[in-house]
Amino acid sequence: MSTREVVIVGTGPAGFTAALYNSRADLAPLVIEGGLPGGQLTLTTDVDNFPGFPEGIMGPDLMENMRKQALRFGTEFLSTKVTHADLSSRPFKLTCENGDEIMTKTLIVSTGASAKFLGLEHEAELMGRGLSACATCDGFFYRDKEVYVVGGGDTAMEEATFLTKFAKKVYIVHRRDTLRASQPMQKRARENEKIEFLWNQSVVELKYDQSGLTGIVVENTQTNERVEKSADGLFYGIGHHPNTEFLAGQIELDEHGFIKTSGHPDTNVPGVFACGDVQDPYYRQAITAAGSGCAAAIKAEKFLEENPL
Ligand code: NDP
Repeated sequence: MSTREVVIVGTGPAGFTAALYNSRADLAPLVIEGGLPGGQLTLTTDVDNFPGFPEGIMGPDLMENMRKQALRFGTEFLSTKVTHADLSSRPFKLTCENGDEIMTKTLIVSTGASAKFLGLEHEAELMGRGLSACATCDGFFYRDKEVYVVGGGDTAMEEATFLTKFAKKVYIVHRRDTLRASQPMQKRARENEKIEFLWNQSVVELKYDQSGLTGIVVENTQTNERVEKSADGLFYGIGHHPNTEFLAGQIELDEHGFIKTSGHPDTNVPGVFACGDVQDPYYRQAITAAGSGCAAAIKAEKFLEENPL
């Protein structure tokens, strides 16, 4: 079995950027695409905040362009998922869903995080058509609209507060009557005149027509009474789930499962680097992911020079 110089696991802006840099450095990176090739941006429509596209670009097109750019310099793609990583010694050993076993001198993890969904019917087809899990990405499209945010944590408070820059009214739907969010974030949301809280309510159904989401049905968690409300947008702010299961016990994770990198691409395992949302519960933007992918690629290249094996 030949040993790779660098394997990149995951294909979002972070993984593609790492592949671009490492392929241009003649490291012939292998990219393992994962279960959702292109990552979260393939679930969105217009991306207006990625620099270089004055008219904006569709999320799937941006990912396809990044993939092609990495291919141009010799990146190899493998369409499977890593199910287990043995990082106990170098070279590292990756076991894939398709049965492949891959040895690599360095590893870049860019498997991202997935926004948690409520699990209601029609969520997938309404994503980007009234339903979103990222106010920073999609808030701009809700100017003067009425939108709902689900959740009672910091993400929901932050999303709701951000949305008030555009929307005329923002409702926070929370399943309890107390918030999990930190005090300063709560205070900011509570003091915002455009925000109204719907306490003890759960969203139980999505209403839609051919144009996308048109409304929601909320259920009182104490009385079970159901009410239908018209809605221009619904934002999920119920947390993110980092895709790190295949690294369990191999690498240091924080209490939410994000890889610990302290703001740099280095992990606690020398030769293993992490970039993008899998190590970033804070910014979660395509451009910050791409930047960290570049940093991880440069670190991997330098590490190989100093530790060739
Ligand atoms: P949290 O887990 O803190 O909060 C999730 C919220 O969603 C909770 O209020 C929870 O309700 C609710 N929720 C979860 N599942 C459901 C469901 N199925 N139906 C309805 N409601 C649901 O996640 P966050 O993403 O808010 O925060 C994660 C971490 O990131 C935290 O440590 C947070 O502090 C941090 N963060 C920091 C920010 C900042 O500092 N600017 C911004 C965003 C996040 P319940 O309370 O009833 O469990």
